[in-house]
Amino acid sequence: MSCAVCAGTEVCQPATRAPASRLGAEGFGSSRSGVTLQTLAVCRSCGHAWQFPLPSQAELDAIYAQLEDTTYLSEGDNRRRSAHRALDLMEGYTGGSRGDMLNTGCLAGIFLEHAKARGWAVYGIEPSKTLATAARLATNAAIETSSFETTSQDGRSYAAICFWDVLEHVADPAAFVRAASACLAPGGIWALNLPRRDSWVAPILGQR
Ligand SMILES: [Zn+2]
Repeated sequence: MSCAVCAGTEVCQPATRAPASRLGAEGFGSSRSGVTLQTLAVCRSCGHAWQFPLPSQAELDAIYAQLEDTTYLSEGDNRRRSAHRALDLMEGYTGGSRGDMLNTGCLAGIFLEHAKARGWAVYGIEPSKTLATAARLATNAAIETSSFETTSQDGRSYAAICFWDVLEHVADPAAFVRAASACLAPGGIWALNLPRRDSWVAPILGQR
């Protein structure tokens, strides 16, 4: 077993295995539950941690395709506030300019909706059919029902690429980041967030 981030092979395996029977669409997105710090393998070299054992890509693709995140949808007001906070931060880096933006893993498009209202030209990628349809309705933008890894980005470039709560779902995060870099226009930015298992909020969130 080696680390997907640094390729280190000194890995601390969890005492408890993530119960495979509980793996389903309800285990992902804001509505998720059932992943705990006791079910994570940890790389001794870089500290990266991942659920152990990892489901296969085929299993994950099937789950993401049927994801319906009702908790996410019910959190509209908080999501709107979070979107504007993130956009304020991003526009600080772009000097206030707003160009083409790709949000990969855009769920129901709440972030893109607010980005569009502020003048960004928005594009999205979302593997869940239900959520991609909702995103199309919310944004009237080109939303591909797919994943970033399987969508051709030939010749496209963006002023901003956002992946909110995405990188921790990707099998090869290093390759993902390299591919995303290749799609940035000169001076373009990424914006992303990641869970930190050693943050003060992690123990409070528990199984979520
Ligand atoms: Zn590592």
